[in-house]
Amino acid sequence: MYRASFSCTITQIVNTEHLKTIDKKHLWHPYASIGNPPPVRFAVSARGTKIYLDDGTELIDAISSWWTVALGHNPPEVVEAIKHQCDEMTHVMFAGFTHRPAAELAETLLDMLPSSLNKIFLADSGSIAVECAAKMAVQYQHACGKPEKCKLAALKGGYHGDTTGAMALSDPDGMHILFRGLLPEHYFAKQPKCRFGEPWIESDFDSMLSVLDTHGSSIAAVIVEPIFQAANAMWMYHPEYLSRLETECNKRDILLICDEIATGFGRTGRLFAHEHAGIVPDILCLGKILTGGNVTLAAAVASGIVADVISKGPVSDNEVTGSSSGAFMHGPTYMGNPVACAAASATLKLFRDFDWQGSVARIEKELTEQLSPMAALPNVRDVRVLGAVGVLELEQMPSADVVNTVIKETGVWLRPFSRFVYTMPPYITTSEEIRRITDAMGKIAGA
Ligand SMILES: *Cc1c(COP(=O)(O)O)cnc(C)c1O
Repeated sequence: MYRASFSCTITQIVNTEHLKTIDKKHLWHPYASIGNPPPVRFAVSARGTKIYLDDGTELIDAISSWWTVALGHNPPEVVEAIKHQCDEMTHVMFAGFTHRPAAELAETLLDMLPSSLNKIFLADSGSIAVECAAKMAVQYQHACGKPEKCKLAALKGGYHGDTTGAMALSDPDGMHILFRGLLPEHYFAKQPKCRFGEPWIESDFDSMLSVLDTHGSSIAAVIVEPIFQAANAMWMYHPEYLSRLETECNKRDILLICDEIATGFGRTGRLFAHEHAGIVPDILCLGKILTGGNVTLAAAVASGIVADVISKGPVSDNEVTGSSSGAFMHGPTYMGNPVACAAASATLKLFRDFDWQGSVARIEKELTEQLSPMAALPNVRDVRVLGAVGVLELEQMPSADVVNTVIKETGVWLRPFSRFVYTMPPYITTSEEIRRITDAMGKIAGA
């Protein structure tokens, strides 16, 4: 069995003032102003659950560096695989070539996926995987002789990425509201309200049913984050919603896309979140934990049926691209990058040998025990735990000052957004570290 064996890191106190000045003046950070930048910490190394800073402090990475490092930072086996691949070949274009890392990744991934999902498109980031999934759905309908089915339906409260096509599928009233004018319009159903673990109420599906009934003839696919809406809502909903969705999509020849970029690889307690509902999507998006947070890589995986239909489709031989009939019209420059594929293969092999079920179940239990009592705090509106996800929904957004002070005092790296203080820790996080994480969350919530 895989046990994390991270080499210790001796943190050198380095003089970083010059570099910090360059950063502050010239580098954009995610969702941040460059004119009035929020504080950034200078990371010099990371191992296991910890990030080490230039001033000698260490932080527990309670959000797995945006939900990626499920097996910890710098797992030696993955680092070794990356180094080995760098010695052989760092890159070759994927048009006209293939290579061992890509084929081995496919083989490893297929072992984990439902058998119907077996045609893999390697993308360079999660957002691009979403773009590819949407294009596959539209190209599928086109090949079926239904070019009018060229819109998607999605959920309020959802998040599918930051590129234009992916933003257009994310909550229209959410973080991208500024860009509305830029975006193609799709159809949105109300956010599912029935909670995971509570009784199902059929009326929760009414809004989606009405979207499908009214616009079904122009809808190519429905895209959802199954069970757990992460970046926009931190919300866990009832699996029955997905069962109903699968049934209603099938009736109308609408494809179902599950965006499991955040939920895939055990985060919700199942290998893939759609398993909670016993459904299988037509297209699955993967990212984040796919490479264990080591290198960027994502995938859109289509069912054999979807791929077959696209392959027999009428996209004609194209003089410009040299593409043959039935080509899927997407091809990023760094598609199938060998280093990224090697990192993903090594990560998935580690994952397979690791008792992630046991770890995620333990973390779920600890988060439930430690966060539930915080529901009584005046500033806490709701507490939600599923798998290795723990969320405090507050009444009031915490101030940046409070968050920064708590991080400094507790040595726990959290990044609340909107009214959500949450943890999505690496699966190797110890019980003692989980306790420190929930204490820090409680402090932010005003304990
Ligand atoms: C993070 C995320 C994305 C976007 O992935 P990037 O790699 O940041 O482009 C898309 N969908 C979901 C559900 C995500 O959590």
